[in-house]
Amino acid sequence: GKGKIFNFESTDTICAYCGVGCNVELYKDKNNNLVMARGIDKEPNNGRLCVKGRYGYEYVNSNERLTTPLIKENGVFREATWEEAIDYTAKRLLEIKEKYGPDAIGVLGSARCTNEDNYIVQKFARAVIGTNNIDHCARLCHASTVAGLGKALGAGAATNPIDDIKNADVMFVIGSNTTETHPVIAQFIKENKKKRGAKLIVCDPRNIDLAQYADIFIQHYPGTDVALLNGMMKVIVDNGLIDKEFIENHTEGFEDLLKVLKNYDLDKVSKITGVDKKLIESAAITYAKGPNSMIFYTMGITQHHVGVDNVLSIANLALITGHIGKVGNGIDPLRGQANVQGACDVGALPDVYTGYQKVTDETVRKKFEEFWKVKLPDKVGYAVSQFGDLALDGKLKAVYAMGENPLVTEADVRHVKEGFEKLEFLAVQDIFLSETAQIADVVFPAKAAYEKFGTFTNTERRVQLLKPARTPHPNVKDDWEIVCEVATKMGYPMHYKDAEEIWEEIREVTPSFKGITYKRLKENSLQWPCPDITHPGTKILHYGGNFKRPNSKALITGVEFEPPVEIPDNEYPFVLTTGRILFHYHSRNETRRVKVLESFVPENFVEINPEDAEALNIKDGDNVKVKTRRGEIVVKAKISQKPKKGVVFVSFHFSEANANILTINALDPVARIPEYKACACAIEKI
Ligand code: SF4
Repeated sequence: GKGKIFNFESTDTICAYCGVGCNVELYKDKNNNLVMARGIDKEPNNGRLCVKGRYGYEYVNSNERLTTPLIKENGVFREATWEEAIDYTAKRLLEIKEKYGPDAIGVLGSARCTNEDNYIVQKFARAVIGTNNIDHCARLCHASTVAGLGKALGAGAATNPIDDIKNADVMFVIGSNTTETHPVIAQFIKENKKKRGAKLIVCDPRNIDLAQYADIFIQHYPGTDVALLNGMMKVIVDNGLIDKEFIENHTEGFEDLLKVLKNYDLDKVSKITGVDKKLIESAAITYAKGPNSMIFYTMGITQHHVGVDNVLSIANLALITGHIGKVGNGIDPLRGQANVQGACDVGALPDVYTGYQKVTDETVRKKFEEFWKVKLPDKVGYAVSQFGDLALDGKLKAVYAMGENPLVTEADVRHVKEGFEKLEFLAVQDIFLSETAQIADVVFPAKAAYEKFGTFTNTERRVQLLKPARTPHPNVKDDWEIVCEVATKMGYPMHYKDAEEIWEEIREVTPSFKGITYKRLKENSLQWPCPDITHPGTKILHYGGNFKRPNSKALITGVEFEPPVEIPDNEYPFVLTTGRILFHYHSRNETRRVKVLESFVPENFVEINPEDAEALNIKDGDNVKVKTRRGEIVVKAKISQKPKKGVVFVSFHFSEANANILTINALDPVARIPEYKACACAIEKI
């Protein structure tokens, strides 16, 4: 609701940064500037906020905000009216569709936009352009989760609520630097340890903050997760710690796993992972014994060319021990961006409509065809991780991007940029002139999340209502509104009164959202599935071992270890791993415009282990070149115990020294996610 402190007027909304989805009260001053934020005492954050939630609103006030449409002429932007920019975009898209076919156009949704924005943009791709080439940055973070958990459990989403952390006796965190990427969840993890003495197991190639609190810390080499998890499962099987009753009644495929595990004795696993056998053994026994054990993971698991295999291994671990489908157990993939869960849920993906209804399923497609009154494409579309290559090959001729900043965030980004520069047409909606917007033909100024009505869905499937905390500039529009105007101009009228009317349409075509209305959300957030108007929402998925798969049984899959695509050699002797830091967010489009955050970490760096630094005669603060087969960047050296010897870390937030110049675009064959977490690199002192 609206409140007041001094002369500041407040609005309750949802933090626009990470997938925790903290409730935040934002205060604006008389000049319409956001000036203060406070956490609200309700689930999921119970009053807490991290530094981004507390201070990160400042970018919204920035005078660098886009406030007028831009059209590029002779290589230079000129200001344009809305009518001109919409007409021009519609004309160019129609020409390209006519000349090359609808699949020559790619569309991007955004995990920083609302469910309503993303529903509209995927409808635009499918119903107006006629392609399933619709994707967004979930491809780069949890595509492996959507595919892996979908295959194993029947739903590619977190099983248990954040509030359940307090019921876990063992917290198993793998490939998640939780303190920096999901800070409020990290606080709950630490609190559960402190208050209840719950055990914490941390597995990470870096000696991250959470490792300092761990009872067991496993520092394995990047890209060796399957070997580690198989080793743990072998210990569990050999020690008779499996949950026989659960395996028998609620799963299939256990025999398949047993066959694979035979080859994972701890000597072999220890050699692959670089971890002492005893640690692997005690982690396995501690997790299995629980009695209640929860798993948390993030991109350390998903961002590999074997991302889906990694996720399947996580599912195997939970399934053979029966640590799923009950309070204080389960698997929580922590979703990165504020609405990355929601953007997937409403179909901003190339293979599914809303609620993960498959585009290849004829009955589903017919339903959407009747509803949208148009013939729909039946083949799965391209993923954003393929856009660069496809553009270079001449198969992709135009991209319409609602936000997102692929020219900073895609792997092997120079190659992607070359592709995007070859496009015949690029339109971008954004709040700033991002690196991608700079090379666009048309740029539309959009509202920021803190200026919008709509919904976000957080990492625990919680649908939450956003309300505008300040009055937007009169010449910016909602993202959905811009897309609707282009669609209408292209000959497919799309008119909605407001975000709620769009949500009503989402409800109509999505069984899992049927029971969620704005009226109910005004009282309280709701977790999907929520199939009818009296349903309280679903806190725990697969409760009682009831999986949305044939015979209600989960699938256990034997998974073999495969090393990263690029392994160190004489020329490139280090493993480079990339990731996020607390003070910045994604391509830094927003956080570079927040003084407090920028002052903590204003430039990129490379973390090097002290032993490696000494061997290379590198001192803390020296300028060093980090080089891979794709390119090189120059950054300051940060000598740190965090990476293991032989491993270096660079964050990907800085376009000025972009880690993605270095990363390899080796894709998981199913999830099409790039291997951001491991490639070979060389370090040179300058
Ligand atoms: Fe925002 Fe995430 Fe921080 Fe919460 S934990 S305040 S949602 S960035």
